Amino acid sequence: MSGIWQQPGPAPWASDPQLSRGRQISEPPPAYRTEYQRDRDRIIHCSAFRRLEYKTQVFVNHEGDLFRTRLTHTLEVCQIARTISRALRLHEDLTEAICLAHDLGHTPFGHAGQDALHDCMREYGGFEHNLQSLRVVDVLEERYADFDGLNLCFETREGILKHCSIRHARDLDELGRRFIDRTQPGLEAQLANLADSIAYNSHDVDDGLRAGLLDLDQLQELELTGRLLNEVRRMHPQLESRRLVYEMVRRLIGELVADVIETSRQAIETAQPESPAAVRASGERLIRYSEAMDRQQQELKEFLFRQLYRHHRVYRMASKAGRTLRELFQALLDDIALMPPRQHARSRELEQRDGAKGRARGVADYIAGMTDRFAIDEYERLFDPRRLT
Ligand code: MG
Repeated sequence: MSGIWQQPGPAPWASDPQLSRGRQISEPPPAYRTEYQRDRDRIIHCSAFRRLEYKTQVFVNHEGDLFRTRLTHTLEVCQIARTISRALRLHEDLTEAICLAHDLGHTPFGHAGQDALHDCMREYGGFEHNLQSLRVVDVLEERYADFDGLNLCFETREGILKHCSIRHARDLDELGRRFIDRTQPGLEAQLANLADSIAYNSHDVDDGLRAGLLDLDQLQELELTGRLLNEVRRMHPQLESRRLVYEMVRRLIGELVADVIETSRQAIETAQPESPAAVRASGERLIRYSEAMDRQQQELKEFLFRQLYRHHRVYRMASKAGRTLRELFQALLDDIALMPPRQHARSRELEQRDGAKGRARGVADYIAGMTDRFAIDEYERLFDPRRLT
């Protein structure tokens, strides 16, 4: 291990709040925090963050109190990323800010909700949840006297926008540039993206087993989880199955994290980027899995897709969720006055500016901001004649 890894604090390749590309509206620097700490704090205090508690990850919120929600998922992503960030000497506050904000734009009902809203918005520019997360922090949060949104630093916004279609990238100025030029974002953004996949692969295994949609025999067949199950069984032959699952899942997170740290450390050492600008200019992703681990986690991901996300019970729930959102969207688009006054006014303003596209965007913003239970309640209020309020 070379000497540079043992130095405390961020390394030359880490983002530096003093050299930030700044905020869209300039503000005096914070007195006791770094600019990235300020971003993190603004995200925690925003209302979209609190709504994550009642938004679905895979299982709909009312299916059980033990399943992950978007909020607990977000916290898991955050702590995984902070461990890796510190080990690689990246900027931990920026890493944390990006992770806390990464799912703010998610619709109710998880992927089913997303697909349904994208479908509804097809003629009006589509719906992308990454772009919506950016829209939440740039425009939709209304808390500050001097600006709309949270007025976050460029580096935080860059990390939040982890994917984006070329069509939308063209409308985003400097933030969209990298999708057109095919360059990389800063290392903290690269890390947040990977930590997201470590978190959901591991906790979906856990939730899937708990829900009885997956079983240990299936996981025994996969290279990665099979190896970990053998390891735990060898060390603890009498272990009851609930603890066996926990021991496997904690090892799963541990192995993925260790692999990313060691592989990325070597990649950084080889590339020797002298600054975050050098990281961005490079076409190469420096935060990554080893080839062997990438193959194994890909196998797990595909297994989860087939067995969990497409499971009959999940599929039925997803289908109902999609229908609920589509009907809500149609009713509200036909008559935007059905929305609460503030959202109605916003939709009308957007319509005056962008025509039918703007009107639909206002409806999509309202629906995307709903929690699972609010969407169900709103559906009943709109369509059930016995509900008068
Ligand atoms: Mg996520």
